Amino acid sequence: MISNKMKEQVQSSSIIRAMFEEGKRLAEIHGAENVFDFSLGNPSVEPPEDVKKAILEILNTESTTKIHGYMNNSGYEDVRATIADSINDKFGTAFGQKNILMTVGAAGGINVILKTLLNPGDEVITFAPFFGEYRNYVNNFEGQLFVVSPNTLDFQPNLEEFKQKITPKTKVIIINSPNNPTGVVYSEETILNMADILREKQKEFGTDIYLFSDEPYRELAYDHVKVPYVTKYYENTIIGYSFSKSLSLPGERIGYLVIPDQAADFENILIAANIANRTLGYVNAPSLFQRVVAKCLNAKVDVETYNKNRELFYNGLLSYGYQCIKPEGAFYLFIKTPLDNDVEFCNLAKQKNILIVPGTAFGCPGYARIAYCVAYKTIENALPGFKALIEDLR
Ligand code: PLP
Repeated sequence: MISNKMKEQVQSSSIIRAMFEEGKRLAEIHGAENVFDFSLGNPSVEPPEDVKKAILEILNTESTTKIHGYMNNSGYEDVRATIADSINDKFGTAFGQKNILMTVGAAGGINVILKTLLNPGDEVITFAPFFGEYRNYVNNFEGQLFVVSPNTLDFQPNLEEFKQKITPKTKVIIINSPNNPTGVVYSEETILNMADILREKQKEFGTDIYLFSDEPYRELAYDHVKVPYVTKYYENTIIGYSFSKSLSLPGERIGYLVIPDQAADFENILIAANIANRTLGYVNAPSLFQRVVAKCLNAKVDVETYNKNRELFYNGLLSYGYQCIKPEGAFYLFIKTPLDNDVEFCNLAKQKNILIVPGTAFGCPGYARIAYCVAYKTIENALPGFKALIEDLR
């Protein structure tokens, strides 16, 4: 018999993954070209050419034991040093290789940090709408997730409610910007105010509260919007980065954590996170791809392709009467559903072979997420269906 904890996770199993399977089923019945699957954040643009070049160069020039062998559980020292230098160049920070821990994507990094920090019953706070997997990750380590309700005006975090939710048991805050599912970038003002609140609460309770910034979409930002580098605003910040979206490599499972010297108990966190990476069963991040990403730190995914999709979809939906905030990053639109019941609305969309994810899956009912990391043509072909959907409801 499976464990009680897994029973819970099976029951609440990802609605997004279920949609993905549904998309495949519908494509078999109606033909792939007649199914408009906007359910999954799977990058649609090719990885930059540099990625292929790097793979071939590494395979052709380096010894296979070096490429495929075990290494320090935190990752290759030279790769971590190269990444630290690159962050320092971009953001004026002063990290060294010791501050970087290579991870199995952002998901691996979050699990490593939660295992490192949480005692059973410790509280974690995040802001709706949020990536639903956080619930499972916190549950993995017997933490308790508290969710700040959404500020649907502009989807910046509701900091008044945040303040009320912090208790002496609050250990970790998870933020995600550019955000999945809204595409909103948390402003510098938001980060400054959040940092002030956290410092005040740390002082009040005599505790350390870590701010975990989950950043798989950092590179996917439009119109030159500034995405603040959070370690510069709050000393107890830990960053989780991933190459899944920026280099279109989600299946390769590669990312890193940044654990700054300024973070409270930093030396023990480094030791513990290294061990957590091992004992969670990852052992280390994929060895070949550590080397690949180190050669591709300045390669950029083709953001312009996503930008064109964003403009087409956003303008089209608005012209039909949908309400939606214009995303500044990532590759998602978060529309207000014309029906209050978002699950029902997404079921109606499915009848038109359009797959989108109810906001309920992100802790924000009354909305739906559309992933526009698809071919431009798919959006063009799907727009009449979206028009018919809203007209049917009038
Ligand atoms: N965090 C957020 C907000 C995401 O949207 C995703 C993936 O969609 C992840 C983490 C996991 O990313 P990775 O593939 O790097 O594990």
